[in-house]
Amino acid sequence: MAAVDTAVLADWVSRFGAAVTEKRDWLTELDSAIGDADHGANMARGMGAVSEKLAAGTPATVDELLKTVGMTLVSSVGGASGPLYGTFFLRMGMASGAVTELDGPALGASLRAGLDGIVARGKAEAGDKTMYDAMAPAVDAFDAALAAGSSLSDAVAAASDAAASGRDATLALVARKGRASYLGERSAGHLDPGSASTAILFESLAAAVVGNA
Ligand code: ADP
Ligand code: MG
Repeated sequence: MAAVDTAVLADWVSRFGAAVTEKRDWLTELDSAIGDADHGANMARGMGAVSEKLAAGTPATVDELLKTVGMTLVSSVGGASGPLYGTFFLRMGMASGAVTELDGPALGASLRAGLDGIVARGKAEAGDKTMYDAMAPAVDAFDAALAAGSSLSDAVAAASDAAASGRDATLALVARKGRASYLGERSAGHLDPGSASTAILFESLAAAVVGNA
């Protein structure tokens, strides 16, 4: 596969929704240790609303699809994660434009714009123990794989692996952003819930690309 079209991107969104719903209890358990025990519910509710919105049919263009996902997340999730993931998809949509597919470099630019949107919104930096710590390594790994001549499938697989490693590395970190930061040193020794959902986001992207190849 040299490019992802709107059908593959819609499949990504759908797989992400199914996976966060399936892993809702685990995400909530992670958030109960260092937050307020609602991350699983927030993600499942938001992606459930997205799935209802897209049930009428997949929008024709990439920007329309991703902006719909983003706006639905922003409006249906009260927690911090709704506006953050919402901004991610909105910025991806804006960066993509009214096209029907994204090739590797265009997908990379779109993911980078989404990550930049999360930073603009939440001001997280590397090591703050947030979703950024899974997402930034994933986007970097995607770009690095493409630059090294990898296929789109291999690049999304590399991004997925990097997101999982980034998630695992949040275990030792002390939170400096979000609710978990209220716990200070006591936040260490627990995975960050948002980094766990971000690892699922990239796992779902890799599965959608491979599954539709
Ligand atoms: P809330 O914290 O409002 O209950 P959630 O539980 O749904 O919302 O999401 C919590 C996750 O959001 C955290 O685990 C973290 O990854 C992410 N997060 C919180 N604040 C920020 C921020 N400023 N920047 C990036 N990510 C953040
Ligand atoms: Mg929470």
